[in-house]
Amino acid sequence: MRDTRTAPPMSLEAKSPYELRVDLSKDVPETDMRAAVQNGDIGFLHSFTTGATVDGPGVRVVAWTAGCNWRCQYCHNPDTWNMTNGMPVPLARATEELRKYRHGLKIMNGGLTISGGEPLMQARFVVKLFTAAKAMGIHTALDTNGYLGDRLSDAELQAIDLVLLDLKTWNPEKHRKLTGMDNAPTHDFARRLAAKKRPMWVRYVLVPGLTDDVKDIADIARFAASLGNVERVDVLPFHQMGQYKWKQLGIPYTLEKTEPPEPENVEWACEIFRTAGLQAY
Ligand code: SF4
Repeated sequence: MRDTRTAPPMSLEAKSPYELRVDLSKDVPETDMRAAVQNGDIGFLHSFTTGATVDGPGVRVVAWTAGCNWRCQYCHNPDTWNMTNGMPVPLARATEELRKYRHGLKIMNGGLTISGGEPLMQARFVVKLFTAAKAMGIHTALDTNGYLGDRLSDAELQAIDLVLLDLKTWNPEKHRKLTGMDNAPTHDFARRLAAKKRPMWVRYVLVPGLTDDVKDIADIARFAASLGNVERVDVLPFHQMGQYKWKQLGIPYTLEKTEPPEPENVEWACEIFRTAGLQAY
């Protein structure tokens, strides 16, 4: 645990989301935290990172939120599960931070992505930050597991240029085992985005022995293709960069011996999506 009596103040910007960050708002009273979440004037953030090229189009700033309602076995950032691990950041400060990058983001056809954790745990803050970004002419993308999609009104969806929807696995029982939660609300959100014609990318993490079942991937591919608003699919190879966080946080980790997939297996998964008529990378 970080010793807040002696440690220097933590900067909002991190080199990568794989920096372990804990207890950054442990001194914020619970009632203040609840009020902040309800009005969205303060966000609880793991960090900002810059230069990302895998979290939406172009080169992007990513705001990593703290707090997640799922517990994925392969999560790379379990320090983002608890909101109290995030740094309390006033909306005005987050907006100012973003303002510094606005010209560069436009030149590099990028924008702001809000990821997590699960950003919609702090839906009010997310909407306010996206609205501020749009006012600066910055492209906005939300990386979400979709479970809390009904926290966004139809009007608020307009402030989001692109939804990166994480589909974890198709079979409901496997999904509950993998994430601790049902996938039906995620599918409902996907259908709603499709009905509203909101652009969407699907993200699929390929984990050998866990999410590499051909039928499961084909079912997701069929579903995604049926929506009509999925512009591309990113197959993300599992890696172990977050493994040390599980150890340091003392959370039992079941994938210690799991290796990243071979490139040809990633290509194989991409082909399943392509066969369904989608662009996959
Ligand atoms: S939804 Fe994302 S942040 Fe939450 S547990 Fe799963 S992988 Fe981790």
